[in-house]
Amino acid sequence: MSPRPKPRDTLARIVPYTPGRSIADVKAALGLEAVIKLASNENPFGSPISHDELIECLESIALYPDLSGAPLIGALAAELSVAPHQIIVGNGSDEILTMIGLAYLNPGDRVLTASGTFSEYGFVANLMDASVDAIPYSDFTFDLGRMAEQITETTKLIFIANPNNPTGTIVSTRSLTEFMQRVPATTLVVIDEAYAEFVDSPHYPRPITWLSDYPNLIVTRTFSKVYGLAGFRIGYAVSTAEVIATLYKVRQPFNVNSVALAAASLALTKPEFIHHTIQNNQTQKTRLTDAITEMGFSVIPSHANFICVHIGVHAKQCVDELMARGIIIRHLASFGMPEHVRITIGTPDQITTLITALTLLVEGKLI
Ligand SMILES: *Cc1c(COP(=O)(O)O)cnc(C)c1O
Repeated sequence: MSPRPKPRDTLARIVPYTPGRSIADVKAALGLEAVIKLASNENPFGSPISHDELIECLESIALYPDLSGAPLIGALAAELSVAPHQIIVGNGSDEILTMIGLAYLNPGDRVLTASGTFSEYGFVANLMDASVDAIPYSDFTFDLGRMAEQITETTKLIFIANPNNPTGTIVSTRSLTEFMQRVPATTLVVIDEAYAEFVDSPHYPRPITWLSDYPNLIVTRTFSKVYGLAGFRIGYAVSTAEVIATLYKVRQPFNVNSVALAAASLALTKPEFIHHTIQNNQTQKTRLTDAITEMGFSVIPSHANFICVHIGVHAKQCVDELMARGIIIRHLASFGMPEHVRITIGTPDQITTLITALTLLVEGKLI
């Protein structure tokens, strides 16, 4: 074979991300008319932005976006009681996770996280030629006690998803505080709060309020989940002014587009939509959990907008059979949980359709 340009060595450790199948793809492949997607934790009610509002958001598309001065930053700062220069926006919170790696990881640094959690953390480490220490869960939850024991002098970055994807579990205020007390001041701790808005627990920590005690904390949030804007790609991080200034150094000049900025600002003015989404999530999560438990499967108690279910050896078959009936859910083999599936909480009608289909699979002894 003739010589070829050789990619960076570390790319040998990276497998491109494979998203779940889209509605259009499943419709075309299986010749189905109605397909529902309960696989990627998006908002089942769509977005809070009306068609007319969206047209208004398009007004500024001829100009480069104003990122640091965007009204969105001011609105978020006011809502979170932080200063505007403690916030940075990204092209999805995924981009912010990459920026954190670009800004802080030298080759050979270590990144600490849980094994089988959100794949972006391992991706960022590998991209920067850092190594990953992935600690098994305890009871499907980040094991902060064991993680603290694994911190070494070269541990530069720690990623914690709270709630965790794909298990839906949370770490408590007490365990996160105890953990932070054991983390060296030179190690950065990223708390990924993609599902924070859904949590209804008095034990859920609010680390955005801890920044004066722990200036090595970064909290990331997103408009992709409860705010219904996953397709626009917009998320943000909150930290100290110093950390945010460092992230600004590695940011692409215009990393978030002007339409997404305008839409996210508008979404913040729609508390009824957010409230309705959260209420529905609680009701349908309880209903689906009860129904699935009654079928004999175990469900991990979830604080997010999805549930993680132990199906057993037929988990893949369960996903395929549901797909054939127009319902897309996620098999968790790539998360190291081949006997589990993850199901996003949908609208009442979607959950009815799912429960009906699952019941038929169980009665037909297909799963
Ligand atoms: C969905 C999700 C995100 C959000 O990613 P965006 O890039 O903002 O769409 C981040 N972290 C976790 C754990 C998620 O599940």
